[in-house]
Amino acid sequence: TARKRFGQNFLTDENVINRIVGAIAPDNDHVMVEIGPGLAALTEPVASGIDKLTVVELDKDLVERLQTHPILKDKLEIHQGDALNFDFKQLVREDMQMKVFGNLPYNISTPLMFHLFEFAQYIENMHFMLQKEVVLRLSATPGTKAYGRLTVMAQYHCQVMPVLEVPPGCFTPAPKVDSAVVRLVPFKTKPYPCKDVDMLRHLTTTAFNMRRKTLRNNLKHMLSDDDFAALNIDSTLRPEQITVEQYVAMTNFFIDKQA
Ligand code: SAM
Repeated sequence: TARKRFGQNFLTDENVINRIVGAIAPDNDHVMVEIGPGLAALTEPVASGIDKLTVVELDKDLVERLQTHPILKDKLEIHQGDALNFDFKQLVREDMQMKVFGNLPYNISTPLMFHLFEFAQYIENMHFMLQKEVVLRLSATPGTKAYGRLTVMAQYHCQVMPVLEVPPGCFTPAPKVDSAVVRLVPFKTKPYPCKDVDMLRHLTTTAFNMRRKTLRNNLKHMLSDDDFAALNIDSTLRPEQITVEQYVAMTNFFIDKQA
């Protein structure tokens, strides 16, 4: 039975499964990595076309099922553990980039996204089933309600493309929310390079601390009126009105000021 504490909603709709596997395009030229294989709804069709699939699953009972699975057991490299603190870099082999995918547990999706961005340079692309609201946040444009720190960090690292919407009835048990699949492709060359990504994350988090306040108010401990003037950024705007490029510019300015 599905365990609520592990966010287990298993995909059962064949059509949706086929479309996701098609988007993933499994191959042997990448290290294929699945997060949360569960009952293997995606694992089986992905593994069927390739030599090896690496999976990270938290639930010990599900890991045991996979270890004894008649078709899968020889193809899988199974890591039992929490994807949130899993070192994905250890999976990189022979300079091959990773393709990472999964129907993720929704309760950990935002911190998991932030964790995965730290490995962006080793990743060719990612396909995730997420709460639709999270996909809207990942792909949001400035000036909209969904635009926030997750948007800025996702679009700093990746090109973000919504792939398909998935209603609750495609899962067992049905989740309470709408779902969607998103494709994230880490940039090989960052369009707006930042001198310190941790600082970008810190400044962005600080900027969005109080969404209804101005940029100036949220960032007053980091940037002065003169700094905003030098940056040519209107500090009376709200945090959601600022582009990724401007967040990077503010961060680099702040770093240079400290130096
Ligand atoms: N991929 C399967 C499917 O589509 O039917 C299962 C999806 S279910 C939404 C999420 C899966 O992630 C479950 O198998 C659950 O046990 C696993 N899981 C939950 N938290 C996890 C974590 N922190 N790290 C790794 N796997 C986790």
